[in-house]
Amino acid sequence: MSTRRDFLKVAGGLTAGATLLVPVETALAADAAAGADAKAEVGGGAVTEHKLPELSYAYDALEPHIDAKTMELHHDKHHAAYVKGLNEAEAALAKARAANDFASVQALSKKAAFHGGGHALHSLFWKVMAPAGKGGGGEPAGDLAARITRDFGSFAAFKAQFSAAAVAVEGSGWALLTYRAEDDRLLVLQVENHQKLSPWDASPVLCLDVWEHAYYLNYQNKRADYVGAWWNVVNWAQVQKNLEPLLKPRS
Ligand code: MN
Repeated sequence: MSTRRDFLKVAGGLTAGATLLVPVETALAADAAAGADAKAEVGGGAVTEHKLPELSYAYDALEPHIDAKTMELHHDKHHAAYVKGLNEAEAALAKARAANDFASVQALSKKAAFHGGGHALHSLFWKVMAPAGKGGGGEPAGDLAARITRDFGSFAAFKAQFSAAAVAVEGSGWALLTYRAEDDRLLVLQVENHQKLSPWDASPVLCLDVWEHAYYLNYQNKRADYVGAWWNVVNWAQVQKNLEPLLKPRS
């Protein structure tokens, strides 16, 4: 029999938001104590309550490159909606398992992937930015710099590819710097929406949101200007931290 302790975990790495995994039995006991009716979840397995992570800086900390109103809406409304959508999708999937009724599994799987991707990438996005000149901007150092030079030829060549990928995302999406353990290599990828075009074996260590909600108030249709300004707030020390636990031991 599982205990609550078995399921408690605090997410690290990419998903900075605290994540609580609670076995259904415990959740049911709590709901019963509160008078709630949660019988539909019996047998459905553990349910995670995903939380919106706090920003580690003020809404206006990234100005003039990213304006305070955009940051406030982006974090408090858009990211919060992805957290809510992910929680809803996973709760619905637990109910479907409990009822052995998978009529909606296609729609729920898509909802979980879209909102889960949005939650994970936004959690990473807030962390890989810092105020310009105070941890943000400049160029990477140390091992990260050496790897970028090895895998892209130079920092300038990496920056050019990443910027071009960000500007050219079709519709809403992201540019990513990822690490692939299979060959110990950094790759630049595009993402459509929050989850499409993934090769599955590459882990994001840096991301840039190019949905219009990320820049439209200040940059309107000029995505390239936003991408250019964004380099002033990249937190390279955090990118190095994101990379370290993923690295394949060199043989
Ligand atoms: Mn966004």
